[in-house]
Amino acid sequence: MARYRGSVCRLCRRETQKLYLKGDRCYGDKCAVERRAFPPGQHGQRRGKTSDYGLQLREKQKVKRMYGLAEKQFKLTYQRAARMRGVTGHNLLMLLELRLDNVAYRLGFAGSRAQARHWVRHGHLTINGKRVDVPSARVKMGDVVAVHEKSQKIPQLREAMEAVARRTIPGWLELEQDQFRGKVKALPTREELTIPMQEQLVVELYSR
Ligand code: SF4
Repeated sequence: MARYRGSVCRLCRRETQKLYLKGDRCYGDKCAVERRAFPPGQHGQRRGKTSDYGLQLREKQKVKRMYGLAEKQFKLTYQRAARMRGVTGHNLLMLLELRLDNVAYRLGFAGSRAQARHWVRHGHLTINGKRVDVPSARVKMGDVVAVHEKSQKIPQLREAMEAVARRTIPGWLELEQDQFRGKVKALPTREELTIPMQEQLVVELYSR
């Protein structure tokens, strides 16, 4: 899968919004969005009218980049959301939230989704006691996501867990920090996603 290898802060600046892609740095005054809240590049500070298509595209890029997905993977997730009952935009966000790498990030096992993805890829996490090394694996209600016993000594993982106090664990998850595990208590609702996202614009873009 093609991966973006450039500066991730540049992605936040492009959306002029914090996407929390870099762990600790995102919470400090070194955050690039705090310092330069305008898009990067020669024309970044130029003001212009954005078309409807432009707004929809930017929103899609924002959500996709925040969850660290490639275009194809994101579109497949959208198509799956569209086939489900209910509001497509809400379904899309729910599917993204239930990815294993996202749940690990939300539980504080990692400072960023990219780091969570790394832990998963290297087999440090388990679902219901079984190692799972697929970041897109979808957790279900009642599942227990944990750090494998042998991986609990990893310094970076411990550091991330100590920093968890700075983040709010969403209500649909229950963390047992001393046990290095968390439970999916319920399915996430739209109200619990506090980062401003206009998922309707993503739906409009793909419905064109
Ligand atoms: Fe985005 Fe974090 Fe970089 Fe700030 S520090 S621009 S939130 S990745």
